[in-house]
This record gives sequence, C-alpha cells and structure tokens, in this order.
Amino acid sequence: MENLESAVPMYDSVNHLVRDLKLDRNSWINKEAIRFLKKTEYDKCEVRLKHVPEEWLAINFHCDQGHDFSVDWLAKTPPSSVFEVEGGLLRQATYGTFCTVCGAPYQMPIHNAKYVRDADIFGDEAFRFVDGKSIFCYTFVGFVGAQKSEKKFKREYSKIKARLAPAVCPDEWVLHVTELLSSDKRRKNKYLSHLNGDQALKGLREIARLIGKFSSLSHLNVYNAVSILLGDAKGRGKASVLDSVYSSVLMRVVSEYTASGVAPKFYFERTGADGWAKNLFDGGRLTLLWTRIANGLPVMSPVFVPPSHSFYLEIADVVSFLVARYLYCVGSRAEGRMVESDIDPSLLGKLRYVWTDGDGHWNLSHTTGFPSKRMFKGTSWEDYI
Ligand SMILES: [Zn+2]
Repeated sequence: MENLESAVPMYDSVNHLVRDLKLDRNSWINKEAIRFLKKTEYDKCEVRLKHVPEEWLAINFHCDQGHDFSVDWLAKTPPSSVFEVEGGLLRQATYGTFCTVCGAPYQMPIHNAKYVRDADIFGDEAFRFVDGKSIFCYTFVGFVGAQKSEKKFKREYSKIKARLAPAVCPDEWVLHVTELLSSDKRRKNKYLSHLNGDQALKGLREIARLIGKFSSLSHLNVYNAVSILLGDAKGRGKASVLDSVYSSVLMRVVSEYTASGVAPKFYFERTGADGWAKNLFDGGRLTLLWTRIANGLPVMSPVFVPPSHSFYLEIADVVSFLVARYLYCVGSRAEGRMVESDIDPSLLGKLRYVWTDGDGHWNLSHTTGFPSKRMFKGTSWEDYI
C-alpha cells in the first residue's frame, strides 16, 4: 500500500494521476474519487454541516513548534482521496493542514481501517406535526448478518406480504405503511382493498416483530434519527432541521461502518426533491470531519432509486412510520387526547436511536424501545410517555 501525499496535484494533474495508475474508471470507488477531485465539482459544493459530535471537539494536535491546537472540522477543504487499484486501496496516510496558532504546516494522521467489504444501506423518512411541534424521523437499514440469515429474513417478510395481499406476488408490489393503514388508500388499492383496519394493523405488527427478531440478533442494522422542533417547521427552519437530523444519522453510520472496515453505499427512495440530500452529502465530504470519520474507506454518494429497487426501502419505511407514529401519540396525549400507541417501537427490537436534544447535540441510545425517558426528560412531553 502506497501513500498519496495530501498535496496531491488536485485539479490539473488528476488525469495524469489516473492515467499513470491505470485506474479502472468503472469502479465506483474511483468514480467517486475522480468526481471530487474536479475543481468545478469542488467549487459548486456548499458545506452545510453545522454540528460536530462532541467527541471530535476534544481532539488536539501538536505542531513542531510545541503548540496544541484543534482544527476547524467543518471548514470547506479538498477531500482526502481513496482510489481502488490492483491489490487494494490507494489512500492517504496524512492530510496536510496548518497549526492554527503559528500557521506551520502540519500533517494530520488519517486512521486507515482495513477494507473488509461494501454494504448497502437504505434510507427513508417520516414527518408529523402535533402539539405545536414538528417531528422529523430518518431511518437507515442494512443487513449485516450472513447470507443464509438474510434469505430467511426476506422469505419471512414475503410470507407476511403474501398474507396481506394474496392476489399478487409479494415482489410485485411495494408496501407503503400509509397506504396499508389508511382506509381510503386501502380501498383504492385492488390488492389491499379486502383488508379491514385490524387486519392491516395485525400485518404491520408481524412485520415489526420480524424486524425486531433480526435487529436483536444484530443481523439487521437499524439506525433511527429523531429531532423535534417547536413550531410548524417551514422554509429555512425546516431545511435546517432536515439537514441536522439527516446528518446526525449519516455521520454516525459512516463512522461506525467504516470503523469496522465496511464501505457504505447509500440508497434512498426517489422523491423528486432529492437535491438537498445529495448536496448535503457532497458538502459533508469536503470537510476534515469526513476525513476523520471515513477511516480511509470509500463511501458511495447516495443513489435515488424507485421504491421497487429493494424491499429494504419498505423496511426503512416501516421503522420511520412506527417511530414517528409513536411520537405522534405521545404528542397527542400531551395535547389532551386519549391516544394509545398501537404499535410500540420496542417490537422493532434493538435499534440505534440517534436523537437530537434541545441543545442540538446528537445522542445515541442502542435500546429496545424508543429512549423516551432520556429524550423527554424535563420537557412538556415527559409526563405523557
Ligand atoms: Zn504551531
């Protein structure tokens, strides 16, 4: 494994570099690296990340002149490079920066994890408004268990779908929870119109239990990010919360996957309003924070796919829906309505909840059931969980 100097000729000679290395241009890793080395791509990216996890702020570096300094983790900076070459990855050992006290050049070490494999991760979101508050919810799921276990998970999921809609092959329709639970929408769907509300709920509970079974075995990896904002978020306020909640789970997933040698590849359902998520992702790469959390591994830019692309998009939809619904029920009780949560998130098994607190900090709870006690401690919802 060779090291690239971090002062790699970024803009003008990248083509020479690529030609010299005889890089495979069809490799997704090389496509990502080459894209981000282009000046036009770099210039048009805006860094919208505003938060650094607490643990990063504590890290200090030491320059040759004896100064202790920390760096601006979120300032825009060219990305560190990872190329796929014959025999493995070609990546940087250090990243060139400067001491913030005396300005002396400083080579920041990059932790390069052993590259084990790639893993697909699927994301979906849900939003609710209740008790004067906006609930934002993002879910990322990926199967990390053995192939045999994954086949079993898929088979059992298909069986539940077949029971819900016996007239169609389970792979030929996409389950969206809102469509399953809304009597209006069910009526309009020829495969689901025979179901009553209780039957639909029963099917959804079975899916939740199935997710719970595999997440508790640590075969299905589920991250769920939640942020609650006072008021009906619109415009800039909404965009900023969306950025924050999406980043909170994205950074966590990148950091945890790459730390164990896994290169994440993200897939989201195509909505027509995907631009902001792509831009946020691109901007995030152009920070030292990214270099720090990616552990020297490649990370694929999100691909926006139709809902039929993978059944994991349905699984992510189920998780986002159930957590958002649970929180909606808490908020409804706070508003004075007698609403019971009909499917508790504890059915989903042990999930990684990434929740943003009132101070904007990102917290992690790896728990069975939503960490309501921690998230709502001292808030107006505390008495209604
Ligand atoms: Zn210095």
